[in-house]
Amino acid sequence: MSATRLLLLGPPGAGKGTQAQRLVEGLGIPQISTGDMLRAAVAAGTEVGRLAKEYMDRGDLVPDEVVIGVARERLAQPDAGKGFILDGFPRTRAQAEALDDTLGELGTPLERCVSLLVNEDEVVDRLLKRAGIEGRADDNEATIRNRMQVYKDQTEPLVAYYRDKGVLREVDGMGSVDEIAVRVEEALA
Ligand code: ADP
Repeated sequence: MSATRLLLLGPPGAGKGTQAQRLVEGLGIPQISTGDMLRAAVAAGTEVGRLAKEYMDRGDLVPDEVVIGVARERLAQPDAGKGFILDGFPRTRAQAEALDDTLGELGTPLERCVSLLVNEDEVVDRLLKRAGIEGRADDNEATIRNRMQVYKDQTEPLVAYYRDKGVLREVDGMGSVDEIAVRVEEALA
């Protein structure tokens, strides 16, 4: 049996999105990526998109209240009832606490936080390559460095937060996509 209420934690470029996609296929539960949802909101020109764009372009975090609203709404949709893979949320202590509240209200507490451990220089290289392929507006070197720093300052402390809750599993995030997928699967057992 695999846990199905999951959170993937790791710096930008750690492979959260790639592993989340594998889990979507393997477990039949949705990926909830606040980054994807915010990019869609920017593209659609919604109020949320208008609020988020300037932060995203700089590689700064979008304000908690905006992101928490987006995540809360998504988690309340019926397909998330059978499980979910959170990717890129929470990124701050306030977001983590809001997530706990939301899942508590829904009666579906988080079962696992998988922290992907990667080498920083390697992920900066990966992101620079992705910049060339996908042309994401925030994949330039200055923004990438800023996103790394933001991760260390604001998001990395969540490793301890989830360790204290007893749901943390640390997984070596270096290697092939397949190798890492096997390790993630083991961490969910
Ligand atoms: P990456 O993990 O490569 O930085 P994401 O797609 O997860 O990419 O996020 C892109 C940007 O979207 C972030 O730099 C940030 O501006 C915004 N964002 C996404 N998720 C959050 C969040 N949980 N809190 C605040 N900002 C967020």
